[in-house]
Amino acid sequence: MRLWNFAAGPATLPEVVLEQVRDELLDWHGAGCSIMELSHRGKEFSGVIAQAEEDMRELMGIPQGYKVLFLQGGATQQFSQIPLNLLAGESAAYVVTGSWSKKAYKEAQRFGAVTCAASTEAAEAVSGGFTRLPAAEAIQVDERAAYVHVCTNETIHGVEVFDSPRLLARVPASVPVVADMSSHILSRPMAVEDYGLIYAGAQKNIGPSGLTLVIVREDLIGRAGPQVPALMDYRVQADNGSMLNTPPTFSIYVAGLVFKWIKAQGGVAGLEKVNRQKADLLYRTIDNSGGFYRNPVAADCRSLMNVPFTLADPALDSAFLAQSKEAGLLALKGHKSVGGMRASIYNALPLAGVQALVSFMEDFAKRNG
Ligand SMILES: *Cc1c(COP(=O)(O)O)cnc(C)c1O
Repeated sequence: MRLWNFAAGPATLPEVVLEQVRDELLDWHGAGCSIMELSHRGKEFSGVIAQAEEDMRELMGIPQGYKVLFLQGGATQQFSQIPLNLLAGESAAYVVTGSWSKKAYKEAQRFGAVTCAASTEAAEAVSGGFTRLPAAEAIQVDERAAYVHVCTNETIHGVEVFDSPRLLARVPASVPVVADMSSHILSRPMAVEDYGLIYAGAQKNIGPSGLTLVIVREDLIGRAGPQVPALMDYRVQADNGSMLNTPPTFSIYVAGLVFKWIKAQGGVAGLEKVNRQKADLLYRTIDNSGGFYRNPVAADCRSLMNVPFTLADPALDSAFLAQSKEAGLLALKGHKSVGGMRASIYNALPLAGVQALVSFMEDFAKRNG
């Protein structure tokens, strides 16, 4: 039986997509074998990856002049691949708003003189210190910087950027913005043209793990030096249609089905409506619990996708987790660096799942309050 899965990643997938995968697993479209067993260079898989790119471009409104790359290594590999490709002996600036941007900043230091454009870490003692966004005035980026890096949804701390242009208003217009969108890509409309490069590991909102999407403006391709491995060079990957070597064919196939599913939901605008309903319901339940539950994130940057919350009495944590699991609610344990609980309510988690969660939370508070 399928239960409501609040895992942060790998995360829940649309049930109808899983059913379709099951139905065509042994014999994909009459090919006589599964999609996993077909050559990545054959006409069948070439059609799958081309259709996935076309649908992705349509869903995100990706303009001409941007390449879409289907890579591997996860978002974490981009922490090094981005500086390897874009730094070209210059510096870059990192906005640190949570664990993921902090990791990206740390990794980039291996490759050159990167600076911290702003950090919200020391600002508060709760929730690992990351509960808000910096003021636009506090973000310092040199006009010669090769890029500025932001994580537009901090998966662990539940801090989301809703208005990148406003946050980055003081960044010189000549500096391209690089964004880690792993945990909220395709959750609502985003203006791709505001960014030089967008990247996302697939296992939150796109499909199975093993696939990483990179959307990169063409003028940022081709800056990698000769020491950069071919597999890590955006130019080489773009010139080879993301198939310098064998790509993660099964993950790309499932991602393609997820893109079709998103189109059937009314695209990203359709999903945004449901995502806002889900998040509103959950935050309202937390805020109206009389202090039984608490989310420490500032109201203007509370994530629509990842909702961390604590119980006023941490001695109740293990009972909450055990009983929620019995009630059919999976994976609510918070990240160890923050503690408490976290509900990841990605695109594929329906409103009914959040309704089941809040009714459990209200009942648990009543019984233990
Ligand atoms: C999950 C996540 C990562 C790491 O992704 P991997 O694919 O495991 O490398 C990086 N950044 C963000 C924002 C994430 O949510």
